[in-house]
Amino acid sequence: MDIKSLIRNIPDFPKPGIMFRDITTLLQNPDGLRGVIDLMAAVCAPLQPDYILGMESRGFIFGTPLAYKLGVGFIPVRKPGKLPGAVYSVEYELEYGTDRLEMHQDALKEGDRVLIVDDLIATGGTAQAAAKMVQQAGAELVGFCFVVELLALGGREKLPNVPIISMVEY
Ligand code: IMP
Repeated sequence: MDIKSLIRNIPDFPKPGIMFRDITTLLQNPDGLRGVIDLMAAVCAPLQPDYILGMESRGFIFGTPLAYKLGVGFIPVRKPGKLPGAVYSVEYELEYGTDRLEMHQDALKEGDRVLIVDDLIATGGTAQAAAKMVQQAGAELVGFCFVVELLALGGREKLPNVPIISMVEY
């Protein structure tokens, strides 16, 4: 199954000069959806995570079926003010300004093995923020898995020294 051929490229979105990698076309293709989740499961299983941690909102789309397939739990990392319990909160840089991600403080305990999943890594700021929360909780980060990696932006340089796996690269 050729994942790349099912990802649509939309020029000048959200701004002129940006080539947006649109995974909605991959999701709506039955073989594409099953194929990408099966592939992520096959390559991530050796990392033996106890939990998949996924970032709102496209990290939920890939992270939850991956957790189901691996037989482990899923932990949502959300935008500010959405989680009802006590949270860890990490601010991270955007191109203009900052944003914030939150995770329930009791979601992880020391020694839990955590795999961070998102649809795409660009500058790496989002994944780096999620990794900081795993570290704050005292859990063990075992790796990252992305559907798409935009190599030119060098996002992986920001991340801790654990396996960083992507299904397709641009
Ligand atoms: P980063 O923090 O710069 O690595 O950006 C990654 C986040 O931005 C991910 O959560 C993506 O969902 C989103 N993102 C950035 N560029 C694209 C794109 O071309 N297609 C889909 N999502 C993108």
